Amino acid sequence: MTTSPVRAITRADATFSFELYPPRSSEAETALYASIAELVAVSPEFISVTYGASGSTRGLSLSVLTHMLRNSSVEPMAHLTCVGSSYAEASQLIREFLDAGVTSFLALRGDPPAGATEDDDFLGDLGSAGELVQLIHRVQKEREPFRFSDVPGFPGAKRVTHGEKVTIAVAAFPNGHPRSRSVDQDLDTLLAKEAAGANLAITQLFFHADEYLGFVERARAAGVTMRILPGIMPVLSPRRLERILELTGEATPRSLERELAAADSQGAQAAVGIRHAIELGDQLLEGGAPGLHLYTFNQHQAPLAVLRGVGLVGDPGSPTTPPREKELA
Ligand code: FAD
Repeated sequence: MTTSPVRAITRADATFSFELYPPRSSEAETALYASIAELVAVSPEFISVTYGASGSTRGLSLSVLTHMLRNSSVEPMAHLTCVGSSYAEASQLIREFLDAGVTSFLALRGDPPAGATEDDDFLGDLGSAGELVQLIHRVQKEREPFRFSDVPGFPGAKRVTHGEKVTIAVAAFPNGHPRSRSVDQDLDTLLAKEAAGANLAITQLFFHADEYLGFVERARAAGVTMRILPGIMPVLSPRRLERILELTGEATPRSLERELAAADSQGAQAAVGIRHAIELGDQLLEGGAPGLHLYTFNQHQAPLAVLRGVGLVGDPGSPTTPPREKELA
């Protein structure tokens, strides 16, 4: 699909990871699990699963995460939002995911519910992602001392809680959160999230490497020390480009828009999107990005083509291809 030559892996320290969303039908679920098998096979650092606005996909998100836990050794990361929740509800949500074995989270405030604006009173007990980060740590800590072996009648039984340190990622916005008043506010928010205990940031998607590289420089100057992974997406059609610009509020990338419009078939459009993502990924890694986080749209071919194009994954069958993870059922 891509015309870029596949290079040997020379960026050994760079990580890669993927984002999926919960399936909306049983056919989509079957297709998703097949894609997960392909993504797991290249040994990503983690695979994250989105959480529908106001908890609308709570059960579905959890079943995708549980599927990964049962069938692979890849770390599943749960997106969680806190808008509209009481402390008790948010704590219960965190416990439910920890009980299922999930120990990596992407803590988000979430968007206002449909019909509400940022000025409305929609938040609930937690006002920001930083407060959710603190709550995840608090809930996790409550659980640490508990072991079956502490309970009379269960001497020496295997520990059933997840006392190891949880990974708590947060969102970062290289071009500013659509509602923020200034870049400084965004940097302050990111710093506050790290102070609350976040240990990884994942960016909103963007289209120019200097947007990310400049943002990281400003974040470092402001005191942010955690890893900031750039989130990128191969955009495979003009329609998808339109949709993601609508969702993210990012400025239109003119050359990508032009080339997608000029491509005369779906295959040619996909090749344009993949080439742009490879160029962006290359510039990010050259600029010192610690890895790439791929928004997959629940597909595996395009994200894997991007990773092969930037040399983070070998060609299928080549000696540089990482060993296959345990096959998914
Ligand atoms: P916060 O970091 O809490 O900030 C939100 C806004 O409020 C920012 O403008 C910030 O500057 C401002 N702010 C925060 N604290 C303060 C303060 N103390 N004083 C003044 N202003 C403040 N949404 C979903 O519903 N489900 C998902 O699965 C999901 N996944 C995402 C994944 C990524 C990588 C990204 C980048 C976004 C994702 N989102 C998701 C969208 C996210 O919910 C929205 O961006 C939401 O509007 C804000 O969430 P946040 O975690 O960035 O909020």
